[in-house]
Amino acid sequence: MSKHKSEAFTCPHCQNESSREIVESINVDLSPEMREKVRDLSCFAWTCPVCGKASLVIDPCLYHDMSNQFMVWLSPDGSPLDASGFDPLAGYTLRWVESPNAFREKIDVLERGLDDRAIELMKLILAMQLQKSMDIVDLVFHSFDERTGAFRFVVVLSDGAEQYAAMQGDTYARIARDVEERLFTPARDFVKVDIDWATAALELLKGSE
Ligand SMILES: [Zn+2]
Repeated sequence: MSKHKSEAFTCPHCQNESSREIVESINVDLSPEMREKVRDLSCFAWTCPVCGKASLVIDPCLYHDMSNQFMVWLSPDGSPLDASGFDPLAGYTLRWVESPNAFREKIDVLERGLDDRAIELMKLILAMQLQKSMDIVDLVFHSFDERTGAFRFVVVLSDGAEQYAAMQGDTYARIARDVEERLFTPARDFVKVDIDWATAALELLKGSE
């Protein structure tokens, strides 16, 4: 199941008003076809019926993966999820993100059963190492190679070029253990685990050594 609603929308290209369908929530177990639409962000694409041009329109959206027990709340303006009457199940990971790219990255990490806190810390450590020789704009989790145990990240540079960087699985295991044993993350709230979270967490981990 995914919840949709319709809204009048003015096309930014031709200024004609048409109706637009908004995806308010996605339950990927009930609507598995939505997974690919999140991966390529087409769930946020809208094509104007008058001029035929496509726009990317980002609305708040709650993504629910029952099999892997997590929810990700996409909130472009940072407003909290209206959680009245919402009782998160025990063992769930609850996260919120601001951008569509962070939304799909977070889902990518959590559906693999990885600890996103460890992944964000790896990204931060990698960025600090790479920054000495390159001008990094963004670092995104790409994949986990089960055969070699290596984690791959996409490094986006200021000139728009992209390259891969890898970190070994034992680094992940060590950081994930540190996070689990030495940091407290509230389980009943939607938490924003990003570069800012990782920066603060790294300070805490250093301070408690
Ligand atoms: Zn149009």
